[in-house]
Amino acid sequence: MYIRDTIAAVSTPPGNGGIGIIRVSGALAAAVGETVFKPVYDGGLVSHRFSFGTIYDATTSEMVDEAMAVYMRAPRSYTREDVLELHCHGGWLVVERVLSLVLSCGVRLADPGEFTRRAFLNGRIDLIQAEAVMDIISSKSESALRLAQKQREGALSKRIEDIRCRLLGALALIEAYIDFPDDDLGETDVASIFASVGEAQSIITSLLLTFEEGRVMRDGISVLIVGKPNVGKSSLLNRLLNENRAIVTHIPGTTRDIIEETIMFDGLAVRLLDTAGIRHTDDFVEQEGINRALAKIPEADLVIAVFDASHDFGFEDQLIIDALVNKPTIAVLNKTDLHQRLLLPGDDCFVTVVKTAALSGEGIEVLKKTVCDRFLRTESLDPRESVCLSRARHRDALTVADTYLCKFNDGLVDRNLELLALDLRSALQSVGTVTGQTTTDEVLDLIFSSFCIGK
Ligand code: GDP
Repeated sequence: MYIRDTIAAVSTPPGNGGIGIIRVSGALAAAVGETVFKPVYDGGLVSHRFSFGTIYDATTSEMVDEAMAVYMRAPRSYTREDVLELHCHGGWLVVERVLSLVLSCGVRLADPGEFTRRAFLNGRIDLIQAEAVMDIISSKSESALRLAQKQREGALSKRIEDIRCRLLGALALIEAYIDFPDDDLGETDVASIFASVGEAQSIITSLLLTFEEGRVMRDGISVLIVGKPNVGKSSLLNRLLNENRAIVTHIPGTTRDIIEETIMFDGLAVRLLDTAGIRHTDDFVEQEGINRALAKIPEADLVIAVFDASHDFGFEDQLIIDALVNKPTIAVLNKTDLHQRLLLPGDDCFVTVVKTAALSGEGIEVLKKTVCDRFLRTESLDPRESVCLSRARHRDALTVADTYLCKFNDGLVDRNLELLALDLRSALQSVGTVTGQTTTDEVLDLIFSSFCIGK
C-alpha cells in the first residue's frame, strides 16, 4: 500500500566523499527545507534552482554544515512528489547529522528503493524502467549499461505496450459478442481477432529470442579454462588478464583451486575461471581441485579447453573432451611456438579451434574476438528487435502469456466466447506484470527491496 508520508535517505554511498546528498520526498519537503536550511541570499528556496547556504539545528541554532539545496516542486521531480535535496560535505558523520535533523521534522527513513517505487506508483516510470534504474546503478560493463539505458528510455516498455494493445483489441471484440449473446461471432471479426493475437504472439516470440543475448549483456558470461596440467592454462589466463594473476611453473599440478577474475572483452563482462589441471592423480588435494573444475563445467557459458600443441594427443586430453560433451567449447592449441605434434581426434566437438602461444601472446586477440562474437549479436536474435529482454522475470511472464495465447488459438475452433475471453485476460494479466500494471504488492516488495537505500 502507498502511504503518502514524507521519506528521506542518504542518496550517496556510505563512507567519505566529496559531497553527501540527503534526499527528501513528500509533502513536507518544502517545510523541511525551510526548517533546516538557511540560504545565503534572501528569497528562500525557488523550485529547480540551487541555493547556497547553511544547514543548522534550529533547536540549538548550531551550524551543522555549509551546503547547497535544491527543491523540486511536484510533479517535476524524480518521484513526482515535492523533493528536496541537501548537498553537504561527504563525511559520514556530517551526513548522518543532517539526516537526523531532517528526520526530526516528522519525516520517515525511506525503505530501499522507495524513491523509485514512488516514481513507479505515481506513473512517472513503469516497472521495466524502475528495474532499469537499478541495472544502471549496478552495471559493470558497457554492454550492460547500454542495455539498461535503452530500457530506462522505454524501448522495451513500448514493445510490451504493442502486445497489450493487440490483445486488448481482440478482447474488446470478443466481449462485445458476449454482451450480445444473440449474435454469432462473424467471420470478419474472427479474422481480425486471429490477426491481432497472431501479431501479439509474434512480438512475444521475437522478444523471447532476445533473452539469451540480453542476459549476456546484462550479467556477462562465465568462461571456464580447462585442460590437463602444464598445457598453459595459467599462462593463458595471465595473457587474457594482462597481468601475472596465476602462478606459472613447469611443475604440473600447481593450480589447485579455482582462480576467478572478471575482464572486459569489447564491452562484455567475462568472468574467467582457471582450474586445476585434469588428470589421474593420487594426491588428495589435487583431486579435490579437479573435482571442483569438473563441477564448474555445467554452469559455465563457455569452456576454453587448452591442449599442448607440442605434444601428442594423449588419453588425458581425451578425458577432457569426454567431460565436455554438449558443452560449447573453444579448443585452444597452445605452445604453437614449439614443434607441432598434436592432432585433435576431430574438431566437430568444438565451436572452433584457436591457435595460441601464451608465452608470446600470439593468438590471444583472436581468442578474445572468438569469445565475443559468440555472445554478442547471436544469429538467434530477431533483427526486428532493437531491444532485448534481460530479466528472467520478464521472460517468464511472456512465456506464460504465450501459453495462454496458444490455448486461445486452439479454442477458436469451438468458439466458446467465455473461455476465449478468459484465456485472453490471463495472457493480458501476465503481460501486465512485466510493466507493473498487474503486479501484486508482494512482487513489488520483492523487486524494490533489492534496490539500495536512497534510490
Ligand atoms: P598450466 O599448468 O596448464 O596452468 O600451465 P602453465 O601456464 O603453468 O604453463 C606450464 C609451462 O608451460 C610453463 O613453464 C610455461 O612457461 C609454459 N608455457 C605456457 N604457454 C607456453 C607457450 O605458449 N609456449 C611455450 N613454449 N611454453 C609455454
